[in-house]
Amino acid sequence: MMRIDVLTIFPHVFESPLQESIVRRARENDLIEIHICDFRDYAPDKHRKVDDYPYGGGPGMVLRPEPIAACLTDIFEEYGQGKTILLSPQGRQFTQELAKSWAAEDHLIIICGHYKGVDERIRLRYVHDEISIGDYVLTGGELPALVLIDAVTRLVPGVIGDLESAEGDSFFEGLLDHPHYTRPEEFHGMRVPDVLLSGHHEHIRKWRRKESLRRTYENRPELLEEAQLNKEDLLFLEEIRMNFETTQEV
Ligand code: SAM
Repeated sequence: MMRIDVLTIFPHVFESPLQESIVRRARENDLIEIHICDFRDYAPDKHRKVDDYPYGGGPGMVLRPEPIAACLTDIFEEYGQGKTILLSPQGRQFTQELAKSWAAEDHLIIICGHYKGVDERIRLRYVHDEISIGDYVLTGGELPALVLIDAVTRLVPGVIGDLESAEGDSFFEGLLDHPHYTRPEEFHGMRVPDVLLSGHHEHIRKWRRKESLRRTYENRPELLEEAQLNKEDLLFLEEIRMNFETTQEV
């Protein structure tokens, strides 16, 4: 079973999100074990102080290294050295590819920063990977940790079945997902495309692939440079490009 340890000083943030939907089921089915560790419990003084003023001066507080180090040491001693991740807006960007590769790990350890961040010596001494969820600054690493946990958990083998399959999702094969429709057949004058009602599996497959390529071309064209495209895809893309250029000219 995969184990995830999260080091935070705001453990309550995790309560509800980890008790809902797919993550809850994965935990109940013993496919993933998640432990939230409040590293304030490792603070050396009776006031449980985990932060301090920055050397060199300036505004904001910095998380001291000792409580985080002590918490990590406990985890390492009991469960071994897992892949240790520091959340930071300065890290490399989290992607579906990373989520896929981490879903095969046995043990992830995620460190949530706060205030101005974590004393640099934690990164230097313990961290294998520094990860950002995007080019913006959040108050703490708790929401990014939940993002990582959610994205990784749904890719752990056995967590989601065929019905919710992750395979067609955006980024799974380097493309964006195709549009989805459900009942009713008509909504505010908009009908579900006929092909989806046809029951013709091959036509449906082609339509979905083409729409997937169209969405990627229109919204995230740079993804097409890395995507694995076959002959049929290239023909579809040519058609999409020509249609797009024609509509742009009108
Ligand atoms: N001074 C830091 C900087 O500019 O790089 C930002 C500190 S931020 C206010 C506090 C903590 O939130 C960070 O230590 C990190 O753990 C987390 N955090 C904020 N934005 C993040 C992002 N985009 N991705 C991952 N973690 C983030």
